[in-house]
Amino acid sequence: MSAQIIDGRAVSKTILDEIRSDVATMRDKTGTVPGLVTILVGENPASVSYVTLKVRTALDLGFNEVQENVDPGISEADLLALVERYNRDESIHGILVQLPLPDHIDEKKVIYAIDPDKDVDGFHPVNVGRLMIGGDEVLFPPCTPAGIQELIVRSGVEIEGAEVVVVGRSNIVGKPIANMLLQKGPGANATVTVVHTRTRDLASHCRRADILIVAAGVPGLVKPEWIKPGACVIDVGVNRVGEKVSRKTGKKIAILRGDVDFDAAKEIAGSITPVPGGVGPMTIAMLMKNTLASCRRS
Ligand code: NAP
Repeated sequence: MSAQIIDGRAVSKTILDEIRSDVATMRDKTGTVPGLVTILVGENPASVSYVTLKVRTALDLGFNEVQENVDPGISEADLLALVERYNRDESIHGILVQLPLPDHIDEKKVIYAIDPDKDVDGFHPVNVGRLMIGGDEVLFPPCTPAGIQELIVRSGVEIEGAEVVVVGRSNIVGKPIANMLLQKGPGANATVTVVHTRTRDLASHCRRADILIVAAGVPGLVKPEWIKPGACVIDVGVNRVGEKVSRKTGKKIAILRGDVDFDAAKEIAGSITPVPGGVGPMTIAMLMKNTLASCRRS
């Protein structure tokens, strides 16, 4: 039987609709709306397109969106001063610095300069620590892992007591999602294994998984025979494997594949995310959710 396809676009739209309605109520009651500043240094095409999407989404939700497009030659000191200006600005509840930054700027210094109470990406070490402690300590769950957790919960898959296997141990996906799902509390309480390039027998770990989360960045890494029948498979991988001409715009666009062989895996899994259209659209929705939460707290 074919798996239930977990539609990240639809779930993301539902979350954005909920946020839009909450922002309208907040504006009517208090006159305040969430404020988000997006700082873009230079014109890296991928960064420009991510930031454009974030700005468009924030404006559509009724946020006060401030866009800072900065010359790539900006000095580290000036960029730190810009971050500090928004740390002090009470109308701004979220500060987003689009990565990567030019080589002459220390990314770590810039991330560490963001007020942890406005760090809507959740990358500041204070927020990484809060995530590790869990519960009420968590202010900003990092966006992609939060999107993964939300997708699993909203698709009705039981996380409590489940065997979860996470392929990949990066700071932005593997480690935080493993940490979030092992916490004591709703949408968690799982038994989590994290595997990586030094794991001895990747396949045998994957075969045990009730929930298999793959974030390796290797197209087709997970073979269908590694999947436990009925398992929930979350494919985080986004791999460019070629180009095609868009039928809509006539422009060249990337052909994207996940880390899982989707067509074969969907005949074995109970539920599965497609690539594109699975985890990808959730990241931006969770970023907006974090900004709204920050505004409420302030
Ligand atoms: P990353 O920093 O490159 O980390 C990849 C992890 O996978 C590493 O821990 C690596 O192990 C492990 N790995 C790589 N090849 C492996 C193999 N053959 N067997 C076992 N483990 C292997 O990547 P990332 O930033 O986490 O991103 C992972 C994927 O998710 C990428 O395709 C990325 O584009 C995608 N992504 C999507 C979103 C989204 O949709 N919103 C967001 C973030 C990332 P070692 O630690 O041993 O090297």
